[in-house]
Amino acid sequence: MKLLKEEILSKGIVLSDGVLKVDSFLNHQINPILSLEMGKEFVKRFHSEDPNTKVLTIESSGIAPAFTTALELGVELVFARKKKSLTMNDNVYTADVYSFTKQETNTITVSKDFITESDRVLIIDDFLANGQAALGLAQIVEQAGGTVSGIGIVIEKSFQPGRQVLLDAGYKVESLARIESLKNNEVRFVDETVL
Ligand code: 5GP
Repeated sequence: MKLLKEEILSKGIVLSDGVLKVDSFLNHQINPILSLEMGKEFVKRFHSEDPNTKVLTIESSGIAPAFTTALELGVELVFARKKKSLTMNDNVYTADVYSFTKQETNTITVSKDFITESDRVLIIDDFLANGQAALGLAQIVEQAGGTVSGIGIVIEKSFQPGRQVLLDAGYKVESLARIESLKNNEVRFVDETVL
């Protein structure tokens, strides 16, 4: 997605060979115009005969692109909680997710009220590294007896195994920007564009 790649090239900060910081438009401050375009693009890429009935993401950075996707689809958005809220009872689905950036395991939680066996769920997340967050979300949909219609990622680091992990598990994966390398402080996209 051209607009997103331009934003990454102009505002992304390469922190190391493995980590990209995009706090100025995705992870801390949010660009609403870009988020709206992401939602439209995800809906285009996941268009299918069987309509999606829910969008599922994980707090907090997945919420903006997942929200605009849900808005475009005309369905509700559910976000998994990383910490169980005091107001949540035990009527929940959970999955353990190892965090690539925080290097710790979080138990993510979704109320059983919000995903059911009749749901076709489009999963959206901000980054794809090792695929653990997306797999945890998919496990929750499957615990509910629902169907994962696909996994949409804003920024995929294609030099890490996440995409293959998700494909091997049988999911359709669409990423709006695919990064081949962050070496030498350069963002290199899979299609060979160089910063
Ligand atoms: P995975 O579960 O695929 O290993 O990692 C995905 C999660 O880790 C994303 O939800 C995102 O929060 C975080 N993440 C992974 N790599 C990066 C990165 O390079 N930059 C940022 N900002 N977050 C990342």
